[in-house]
Parts: sequence; structure tokens; C-alpha cells
Amino acid sequence: AETADQTTTTGSEAPKTFTPKEGAEKFTFQAEVNRLMDILIHSLYSNKEIFLRELISNAADALDKIRFLSLTDKGQLGETPDLEIRVKVDHENKILTIQDTGVGMTRDDLVKNLGTIAKSGTSAFLEQMQKSNDINLIGQFGVGFYSVYLVADYVEVISKHNDDKQWLWESGADGNFAVSEDKGEPIGRGTMLKIHIKEDAQEYLEEAKLKELVAKYSEFINFPIYLYSSSE
Ligand code: ADP
Ligand code: MG
Repeated sequence: AETADQTTTTGSEAPKTFTPKEGAEKFTFQAEVNRLMDILIHSLYSNKEIFLRELISNAADALDKIRFLSLTDKGQLGETPDLEIRVKVDHENKILTIQDTGVGMTRDDLVKNLGTIAKSGTSAFLEQMQKSNDINLIGQFGVGFYSVYLVADYVEVISKHNDDKQWLWESGADGNFAVSEDKGEPIGRGTMLKIHIKEDAQEYLEEAKLKELVAKYSEFINFPIYLYSSSE
């Protein structure tokens, strides 16, 4: 019954638009991915919290990868030896940040993994959703990342892989994404998602809610997850 209320808005509200960083290279999403994102961003699905499970699972996968690489090459850990996940809330700017010290993504990884490569799971998931309206299964179709658009209208993915510079991927789910060299603060190794929480999902900026969800979704995660707040 928890899935019975999934529906979409009429689109009467004009979508917010975001301007990519200057000099960013622009890309269009693979067609099915674009359709999926459009559905997710307009969804009134009540079980939006599953986005956190998907993002924690991606962080854990990335941490597993660097840990595996470090078994044969200790130098891979470099100046970021602690393998962990950090969840942080910025109340003022309404941003939820999820950072991992995992393997990170090169520029090419960002372009391919987050938008341009067609995955068979995308259309399979769209089909399944039409039948059951169950967004909860998104991770099983290999497109869990996009569930972030259940709660966000704009997402920045900052990533640093050992073999590349620090890059920024950004998208307001308007059919496009942009990639540019990130000139912001160095994150070390790994990936940081800056999730700009949309108006109807403000509860995901509340500490109590996040604490509950992190506890719920960290059960099978073999890395520490730290929850911070920058409200003071
Ligand atoms: P899946 O996890 O099933 O592969 P997702 O849609 O969740 O599908 O993620 C797509 C891909 O994006 C991942 O396979 C991975 O290559 C990359 N990715 C996503 N999040 C991260 C992250 N935090 N660190 C490194 N790579 C990531
Ligand atoms: Mg995943």
C-alpha cells in the first residue's frame, strides 16, 4: 500500500533553472535516463527516503573498490587513508552533503556513469514502474543514483579519482548535465554529492530524520557513517 500514491504533478509550476559553471562542457542525458529523471523529479511518491539507501550503497561500493585496490597497492590510499562516509546538513543553503572517501570518478567516469551510457535496466525499470508504481526497486535496475531527484531539484557531484583531477558534474534534471574542472576546495579522494533539497522534501534536512535513516540503511554497510550538522 505504501506505493499506491505514486503520481506526478501537472507541471503547472515553472521549473527552477540552474546555470552551469562557466566553461563547463554540456551533455544531454541518454533518452531513457532523461525520461526516468523527469518522472522522479515530479514524483509525489511517499517513500522518497530510499534515495539515502541508494546513495549510501553507492558510497559503500566505491569504498569497497578502493579498499580492494589498496590490498595490492597500499599507495592507492595516499593522503586519504580513512575509508568512511560523511553526511552533513547545511540548513542555511538547504543542502544535504554525502561524501565518501571511495575510489572516486574520473571525468570520463562521470560522463559515462551518470548520464550518457544506456543501461538496459533503465527501460526495464520504467516498464516496471508503469505496472507497479514501485520506485523502491530502483537499485535492482542499476539506476539507483537517479533516485536523488526524488528529493532534489539540483545536484552537484564532485569527484576525485587517483588518476585524474577533481571534477564537478551538475544537473537540475532538465535534460542536461554539465561537467567542469572543480576549482573548489579539494576533497581528497572520493566523491561528494551536494544535494539541493527541493521544497517538498525539507524533512531530509532534519537531524532526527537523517539519524533515523542512517541507522536504518547502515545496517549492512562495513564503513563508518558520520552525521554532521552545520546549523550553529
Ligand atoms: P549501480 O550502483 O547499480 O551501478 P547507480 O545508478 O547507483 O547504479 O550508479 C551508477 C554508477 O555511478 C555506479 O556503478 C558507479 O560507477 C558510479 N557511482 C555512483 N555513485 C558513486 C560514488 N559515490 N563513487 C564512485 N562512483 C559512483
Ligand atoms: Mg547504486
